[in-house]
Amino acid sequence: MPLPKSFTNLVSNLTILPGVGEKTAERYVYSLYEKEMDEIENLSQSLLDFKKNIRTCKNCGCLSDFDECEICTESGRDKSTICVVEDSKSVFFIEKTGKYRGYYHVLNGLISPIEGINPEDLNIEKLLKERINDDVKEIIIALNPSIEGEVTSMYLQKLLDKYDVKVSRLSYGIPMGSDIEYLDPIMISKALDDRKIIS
Ligand SMILES: [Zn+2]
Repeated sequence: MPLPKSFTNLVSNLTILPGVGEKTAERYVYSLYEKEMDEIENLSQSLLDFKKNIRTCKNCGCLSDFDECEICTESGRDKSTICVVEDSKSVFFIEKTGKYRGYYHVLNGLISPIEGINPEDLNIEKLLKERINDDVKEIIIALNPSIEGEVTSMYLQKLLDKYDVKVSRLSYGIPMGSDIEYLDPIMISKALDDRKIIS
């Protein structure tokens, strides 16, 4: 007997998620079957709410429920530094360390010729044209130490040369290919402290 249609539908909808193959999805569906109706309603509602509300901050490009994110609107932030990161995940991760009090700029990707991601696909122009003002004294490039991170950092560094700001990069002391999110908060704090001024 084939699996019920409502079951297979849900399985195939769950497999759109990264790391969720058919087997994992089936396990989730069996587990969802055990849940109470109100739990399922909460889950469905939170999915809809998420998709309806989530957007990127018009200043920094970080994920937010509002047009401007809570970091950009928080008073008392240090206006003199902007930390450039690959994605919103990195922002929330660095925020968790409580070490950094400046602003962020989210590129939403890294340059990758193999994947066809070019500089113009990234949130770079806004950084240069709108975010670097007289208050900004330092741009901290905090991209993952991967080949794509390296290429993107060099590209940014070259563009930033024309501006009257210091440019620094995190010093990780960790092997290439590591991901910021796999570092612990102490390592991130140290990488921020030991950042190197490159221009
Ligand atoms: Zn923002």
